[in-house]
Amino acid sequence: MNPNPQFGRDVSYSRNVFLPITNLCRNCCFYCGFRRDSNDGAWFMSPEEVLELAEQAKAAGCSEALLTLGERPEVHAEARGKLEEFGYENTVDYLKSLCERTLELGLLPHTNAGLLSERELRHLRRFNASMGLMLECAAELPVHRNSPGKNPKLRLEVIEVAGKLRIPFTTGLLIGVGESPEDRAHSLLAIRELHERYDHIQEVIIQPFVPKPNTPMANCPRPSTKELLATVAMARSLMPQMNIQVPPNLLGHNGGVIQRGGYGFKKAVKAVLLAGANDFGGISSLTPDFINPEDPWPSVAELRAAIERAGFVPRERLPIYPRYARDERFMSREVRKRVLQLVDEDGYRAG
Ligand code: SF4
Repeated sequence: MNPNPQFGRDVSYSRNVFLPITNLCRNCCFYCGFRRDSNDGAWFMSPEEVLELAEQAKAAGCSEALLTLGERPEVHAEARGKLEEFGYENTVDYLKSLCERTLELGLLPHTNAGLLSERELRHLRRFNASMGLMLECAAELPVHRNSPGKNPKLRLEVIEVAGKLRIPFTTGLLIGVGESPEDRAHSLLAIRELHERYDHIQEVIIQPFVPKPNTPMANCPRPSTKELLATVAMARSLMPQMNIQVPPNLLGHNGGVIQRGGYGFKKAVKAVLLAGANDFGGISSLTPDFINPEDPWPSVAELRAAIERAGFVPRERLPIYPRYARDERFMSREVRKRVLQLVDEDGYRAG
């Protein structure tokens, strides 16, 4: 049985390069292994470092430049110092410049920088094919006690502003961090409501928590297979037309959620597809998942083989989904020019 007849048997993924601009962040989420303090392993990538990786990605055939960073890093003196050294007044101006140069190289930027104002979103939209902000959970959770940016009301407001600005937008849930099944349902309903009003949510990610050493949640278990599959199925049933994504490196590829329950990677891929997922997100042959570095990406060949084995058809997409890739209302002139060079007639990646 195909749980996603609206997509035929197509299952998508994209090829990206992960550009972790900085791990400095004003928040302190209990589960985060990415964030660092200035005196403890923090970095702030220079323009040269970013563009060198972007050039490698272009040569390797990637289409997506995923710019990820901590929220409002300039609360830290080290970030302010780096921005001054690079000649920028603030992080968003720096990101805008990086996105512009990355787009010129031929990649399509997708930025996830945490909470942003309307003015900042508008600035970044010009050089981003899509942008993202995980809702994570519509309820306030103890794990976000030290994270003002994880206030769900503020995050829903940003997602709404992105809708008003017609930015193809990625959001989703982080599961296994203290939320209840009811919280998950409310989170999905909140996302659905915004999408019904603005038609801009291009994908909903269902991301399982992964414990990280030296964090307050280091000894907490990953969510069970059953919880992951149930949340994917809930998302599919509440949003039949939505792209539902599960990160493939968290699928027991190397000791992750489902494999620990006795499944191999191919079985895990089939299980989430039958539960209702239809996308496996951006995967990279160049860079690790800096958020979950202990879970390596599968190769593109491995992922495609698993999708085919499950009876589906792997399709490479751009960081802007087929639904938006030919809709000029959802992109700037600069982005549109590049998208049209890369897209096929179905909205997937050409070639
Ligand atoms: S999860 Fe994101 S917002 Fe939270 S501390 Fe880590 S980098 Fe900051």
